Amino acid sequence: MQLVFATHNHNKFNEVKKLLPAHIDLRSLSDIGCTEEIPETGDTLEANARIKADYITHHYGLPCFADDTGLLVDALNGAPGVYSARYAGPESNAEANIDKLLLELHHKEDRKARFETVIALNHNNTCVLFKGLVEGRITTVKKGAGGFGYDPVFCPVGYDKTFAELSMAVKNGISHRGRAIAQLITYLGATTSPA
Ligand code: IMP
Repeated sequence: MQLVFATHNHNKFNEVKKLLPAHIDLRSLSDIGCTEEIPETGDTLEANARIKADYITHHYGLPCFADDTGLLVDALNGAPGVYSARYAGPESNAEANIDKLLLELHHKEDRKARFETVIALNHNNTCVLFKGLVEGRITTVKKGAGGFGYDPVFCPVGYDKTFAELSMAVKNGISHRGRAIAQLITYLGATTSPA
């Protein structure tokens, strides 16, 4: 079956493609000719995931799923949360977001944080949501060259390496997105046939 993953983020797309069974023919936004930036105007992860999935279903009429992720930091009362992508400002990038985060946490002992992902799947005229999270802590310096986003400063519980230092396979096995995708795979396995 063909399924669109509504993201322009190549790192995310590659992570997810590695997790899906071969009978799911995963299509990117560029595969379907979508170059627009889909506005993320919701104030929850659920709302933004639904906005992105609904945009593709409405404009392209294809089964699709979208995800939205937030980094929730205890010492910052859950910030940056749903605003993680624009933490350092509307035009910010991963580097600027991380720099702001490390500055805000300077001298703070409590480094506990978690990634949360919500996936919205539009399939067979139904929208289904899946959630995944991973607990961890924010390091004091950036470490590693892999992954993307906040990966160089997020160390998952049980590891002394950041996501950017771990392989994609290890990250996928424990990550917020990997856990949400596992639920999506189970759901699709129960509602579709591999043929
Ligand atoms: P979005 O879900 O693509 O909107 O991501 C929100 C923010 O979280 C962006 O700054 C992403 O770079 C960051 N982000 C999303 N997923 C991950 C991840 O797996 N690791 C690190 N940062 C992430």
